Amino acid sequence: MSKKLLSIRDLSVDYNTEISRVYAVNGLSFDLDYGETLGLVGETGAGKTTACLSIMGLLPEGIGEVVEGSITLDGEDILRVPDSRLRELRGRTVSMIFQDPMSSLNPVLTVGDQILEVLQEHNKGKKKEELEKTVDNMMELVGIPANRKNEYPHEFSGGMKQRIVIAIALACEPKLILADEPTTALDVTIQAQMLGLIHELQQRLNTAMILVTHDLGVVAQTCEKVAVMYAGQCVEYGSVEAIFDSQTLHPYTRGLFNAIPKLDEDAQRLETIEGMIPDPSVKIEGCRFAQRCKFATQRCGQAPGMVRVAPDHMIRCHLFDKRTEG
Ligand code: SF4
Repeated sequence: MSKKLLSIRDLSVDYNTEISRVYAVNGLSFDLDYGETLGLVGETGAGKTTACLSIMGLLPEGIGEVVEGSITLDGEDILRVPDSRLRELRGRTVSMIFQDPMSSLNPVLTVGDQILEVLQEHNKGKKKEELEKTVDNMMELVGIPANRKNEYPHEFSGGMKQRIVIAIALACEPKLILADEPTTALDVTIQAQMLGLIHELQQRLNTAMILVTHDLGVVAQTCEKVAVMYAGQCVEYGSVEAIFDSQTLHPYTRGLFNAIPKLDEDAQRLETIEGMIPDPSVKIEGCRFAQRCKFATQRCGQAPGMVRVAPDHMIRCHLFDKRTEG
């Protein structure tokens, strides 16, 4: 059995606000091997970003709280390590590319200094001149001439800014990158280019990646595994081949596939999944998808468990639980 880089078990995360308690992630479990790519798919409010922030130890202080479960990263239980160790792991072992490059970069620091800052934090013994060379290499690696390192973020286009964010995230060659919808804020014409760049660098540096997206096409192109999230839970998990080639799918995943336009069909309207994601401040006893599911029966008032439907494919739905529970 290969050693896991990341293992998340039964993770539950709540947000405590003055108005209510929000159950953002509920019993999430998945694994990631070294160098592997997992697509975390689902609509807004599914808990994808909260899962990533939990891995980074960046849940909003005093509001976000891991109430249950474990996150083991490169052999360390990161929910139990001290803050000083967590700071060492951030950047060195795991780093994150956020959605919006505008808010990720510091407007009053040159882009070169922002890459240098991360390198200095994790290479305390090294001389500045030596690290400057790495800054130049990182700039070139993401396709920006190193002689532009003394420019400020506002002097770059949106796509170029995101390249700088990627350079910062990869500067210390982390073992895991969390890419949270890294192309959403970009012009559609450069989205494919940016995903291609992340994928190429990830392959070159053998970095594992969790790619948060709502785009199944992107998952098919870039990922090896996929976890479909709905209302804070993983409802389908497996290899990309198993899920994309299967007729056996969770009703929510099937809805996502049906909502993709098909070039060979002359459809007037795209199919949609009727209804809304449930209120995350309400505890749900049964299946979280029941309000929107056309297959729901009385039995769905009880929470379904994950069921293995193929060696590398699991589904959380009573329609399949005659099979072996995973
Ligand atoms: Fe639909 Fe029931 Fe399956 Fe939930 S458990 S997805 S409600 S059939």
